Amino acid sequence: MKEKFLKNILFTVIVIAAVAVFAVLFKLFNIWGFLLEIENKTFDFRQQIISQYKKSNKDIVILAVDDSSYEYIVSTYGAWPAPRDFWAHISEGIEKANPKAIAYDLLFVQNFKVFGNSDKILTDVINKNSNIYVSMTFDSRPKEVRKPIDLPKSLETKLAGNYEFLKKAPLINKINVMGILPDLLNGTDNIGFINVARDKDGILRTSIPLFVYKDKFYKHLDFLLALDILGLDSKNLTIDKNKAIILSDGRKIPLNKDGRCYLNWYGDEESFEYIPLWKVDKAIKENNFEYLTSIFKDKIIFVGVTTTSLNDIKSTPTSRMFAGVETHATFLNNIFDNNLIKKTGIIFDIIATIILTLLTGYIVVKSKNVPYAILGVFILIVLYAVLTIIIMHFFNLWVALILPLVCSIGTVTGCYAIKYIVTSRDYEHTYKLAVTDGLTDMYNHRYFQEQMKLNIDNSKRYNTPFSLIMVDIDFFKKFNDKYGHQSGDAVLRQVAQTIKKNIRSTDIPCRYGGEEMSVILSNTKKEEASIVAQKICEAVRNKEFELATGDWTHVTISLGVASAPIDADSVQGLIEYADKCLYVAKENGRNQVISTISNN
Ligand code: GH3
Ligand code: MG
Ligand code: MG
Repeated sequence: MKEKFLKNILFTVIVIAAVAVFAVLFKLFNIWGFLLEIENKTFDFRQQIISQYKKSNKDIVILAVDDSSYEYIVSTYGAWPAPRDFWAHISEGIEKANPKAIAYDLLFVQNFKVFGNSDKILTDVINKNSNIYVSMTFDSRPKEVRKPIDLPKSLETKLAGNYEFLKKAPLINKINVMGILPDLLNGTDNIGFINVARDKDGILRTSIPLFVYKDKFYKHLDFLLALDILGLDSKNLTIDKNKAIILSDGRKIPLNKDGRCYLNWYGDEESFEYIPLWKVDKAIKENNFEYLTSIFKDKIIFVGVTTTSLNDIKSTPTSRMFAGVETHATFLNNIFDNNLIKKTGIIFDIIATIILTLLTGYIVVKSKNVPYAILGVFILIVLYAVLTIIIMHFFNLWVALILPLVCSIGTVTGCYAIKYIVTSRDYEHTYKLAVTDGLTDMYNHRYFQEQMKLNIDNSKRYNTPFSLIMVDIDFFKKFNDKYGHQSGDAVLRQVAQTIKKNIRSTDIPCRYGGEEMSVILSNTKKEEASIVAQKICEAVRNKEFELATGDWTHVTISLGVASAPIDADSVQGLIEYADKCLYVAKENGRNQVISTISNN
């Protein structure tokens, strides 16, 4: 009973220790961060699947500086970047086709080398047309390198509601800004920022609608463009309790805790319409307005670099080679389609985890065998993964996949570990019952026979000795007659205990039958066995035994010792020899050990 209790305590301690070790490892090796990174990969995987079923808005056109256009510009205008008046001439040419907007994913920063008054020509065209948008970037140059400037008030957005978290968010808080042509900065309100926020693995999954700079809020180029095209207020916005930006038509831009929103990708390079810049330049030069109108009328045109040689290439969930301008088209398209991805909250994820874990446990418990259980859990996991893909596709929700999965697999492992421990304990228990004598708690006769045979075999193979002690209580019949069977049993138990106390842990104490007991001593010579027998004999002689009545009395025992190989080399032979010794001990007056008998 006590032993069982201790065992259970030990078991509990081991479980707690295992959990503690796991928690420390979790912290030490940033397993949480690791799991989140895998979760991100599953987002990519789901995006790759659902992006195949999404159609992008055909009003968005990318005017691409692709490989051919890059070569064309270098050979026609002598250099890249082309002089600024080139962009003035492109803008004016496109404007004649009546586009909805032209957005430049190019930075018109101050050049160290100015081509005549080309900067002025460009800024005049941009400032004159209210549908041309240009970009700026924040950076983190030290204040000693460049004094952070104040941005014009017209670029600011006033926020209401729950916006405090944005001020603490890491990648959206900016400390400096890269100069753009001052005539542009002061001449147009159509300036948006185009900084990106990659995840740790370098993949771009999010965009930033609002940046924080000098405690004020500024819009992303795409966000500004979307609001203007949709005719929505871009100067005053509200953020609700759930960290979503509420637009003036009621639609929401969901943000994560870092103020970023997850883009819903439109697949590979084919998703947006591409027009190479060189074709447009040629058409403008040739006054081919029919062509220009056919491609640009009422379109939103993003102008950007797609050639890999100019280094504006991003890795996204759906493509390792996505031009920066395509991510802008994606963000804009997401706002139009109102399908930015929202990540489910921790409560939702925990509930999903609990449900999946319970289902896993149910499958494991109900399964007939391990292969069925593994198959069942595998199907469950696949179904869950498919469900999360469907939810992402139809509800734009990112449901956690890895946490529920890890917990589910953990449950399978845990269930089987517990099952194994319980059954092995059961087996241990049953085995112990099968080889133990109930009254004395010594090994039973069957085990005695097994061990004798084993010791004989070992003794023969390795040529080692082993000994057997046979014990018989003196005048036990009389004892029973005098004190009753109950007291006889009590004494039998106590004699057994006395024997156990006086032998080594490798010796095997057995109840041979009735009131006869035996000890098998492996690797033990006769002399040593005799000493042990003597010790037992004396211990019993000196002990007071408690009777069932509560009285105390003395008993004595007689012992016979036999050893292999000197006395015999078979189980039967050894038992017979020990019995003979025992007989002699009885004959000689009992209460003694006999280890040798003369042959005559
Ligand atoms: P001795 O060995 O000294 O020659 O005399 P003995 O009276 O002990 O003789 P023997 O060993 O032949 O007697 C065995 C007796 O032990 C018979 C039986 O009454 C008693 N006995 C055997 N098994 C049990 C048991 O499980 N419980 C009790 N109480 N008595 C038992
Ligand atoms: Mg006997
Ligand atoms: Mg006896």
